[in-house]
Amino acid sequence: MSPLPDPLLAICPHCGAANRVPAARLSAHPVCGKCKQALFTGAPLAADEAQFDRHVGKGELPVLVDFWAEWCGPCKAMAPAFAAAAKVLEPQFRLLKVDTEAAPILSQRYQIRSIPTLMLLRGGREVARTAGAMPVEGIVRWVRANG
Ligand code: ZN
Repeated sequence: MSPLPDPLLAICPHCGAANRVPAARLSAHPVCGKCKQALFTGAPLAADEAQFDRHVGKGELPVLVDFWAEWCGPCKAMAPAFAAAAKVLEPQFRLLKVDTEAAPILSQRYQIRSIPTLMLLRGGREVARTAGAMPVEGIVRWVRANG
C-alpha cells in the first residue's frame, strides 16, 4: 500500500472545499480554510453523487462508503455501528453514506447488488468491499485490514 500524500487534500464535509492538510496536523482538529468549520466531525457524511465524486476523486483520504437504503432493515441496524466507526477511523479515513435510492447512478456504477455494502476506496479506486451488516469492531477491523 503506497503511503498517503503529505500534505494531502481533505475535502470539507460542509462546503466541499479542498484543504491541503499536513499529515501531522490531521489529528489536530483542522478547520476548513473556506467555511471555518471542522474538517472532521466524528460522523459519516450523507453524500449525494457530486459529494461522493469530490471526496473520492479529488480528496486524498481513503474513503469508506456505506451503501444503504431506507427500506433495508439490516442497513438501519448497522447505522449506529457505522456512525461509531467514524469516531474511530477519522481522520485517517473519510466515511460516507450513500442512499442507493437517492443516488442510483452510484450503485449502478459500482454494481451494488446487496445492501448494506461497505466499500473502501483509495486514490479514487475501489480496493475492497464487503456485504452484510457488521458491528463497529468488525467494521474497524475490516477497514484496517484492507486500508
Ligand atoms: Zn468548508
